[in-house]
Amino acid sequence: MRIILLGPPGAGKGTQAKSISNKFFIPHISTGDIFRKNITEKTPLGIEAKKHIDKGHLVPDKLTIDIIKDRLNNEDCKNGFLLDGYPRTVNQGEALKTLLDEQGSSLDIALLIKVPREFILSRMTGRRVCLTCGASYHVTFNPPKAAGKCNVCGCDLVQRADDTEDTVNERIDIYEAQTQPLIKYYDDKNLLSAVDGTQAIDSVFESIYSILESIKK
Ligand code: ADP
Ligand code: ADP
Ligand code: ZN
Repeated sequence: MRIILLGPPGAGKGTQAKSISNKFFIPHISTGDIFRKNITEKTPLGIEAKKHIDKGHLVPDKLTIDIIKDRLNNEDCKNGFLLDGYPRTVNQGEALKTLLDEQGSSLDIALLIKVPREFILSRMTGRRVCLTCGASYHVTFNPPKAAGKCNVCGCDLVQRADDTEDTVNERIDIYEAQTQPLIKYYDDKNLLSAVDGTQAIDSVFESIYSILESIKK
């Protein structure tokens, strides 16, 4: 299956992506995780991306599209993939379509996790992430088993530099201006399905699971 996840920052895309990837055996590809890894390793890409990410702005399309092209040409994406955080602009969506057309494949579904703005700030400021495996936790809503340690790999959890109140508000504004148009874009192609992201994490997954089972090939 070829899946993209849409939804505002803090909707629960990363959290659900981990479960979907495990259940359906498809690689979870998060552009945010790829950027954070490059920032930690201080690569040229990481140094450039950090300038934008710290302000809550999008990384320029050219850079982002090249990363995704490279990643989707990997052998492990042959039978499907789950994109989390890409596309974020209609231009990125068009670039994905061109790439898949060239490969003779196409998207199966764009899954929108719907969460109203008033839920987002508390989710983001309480978020703690593992920079090693990308797992995401919440101090109240989804605490790790051992305080400050990742359940999956045992590494230290950190608060992301861009999960501050000011940056979160900027990111939501940018989501509304630049990413929300993708909802209509995929709806017009009859690829859009939406789930209520305000439910508990397990219930959101159950909703997603039944949609994916119904389209599984
Ligand atoms: P969140 O899960 O909070 O929505 P991500 O981890 O997906 O955040 O992304 C973190 C940041 O990385 C974004 O705020 C943005 O600056 C940058 N980024 C991630 N994906 C993209 C993309 N597809 N296009 C442009 N910038 C991106
Ligand atoms: P995104 O990738 O869309 O930015 P995350 O998956 O990182 O979102 O989730 C953002 C924060 O909200 C994390 O701290 C996560 O533990 C928490 N979270 C995710 N889904 C839910 C939910 N359904 N209810 C409450 N908190 C949630
Ligand atoms: Zn981890």
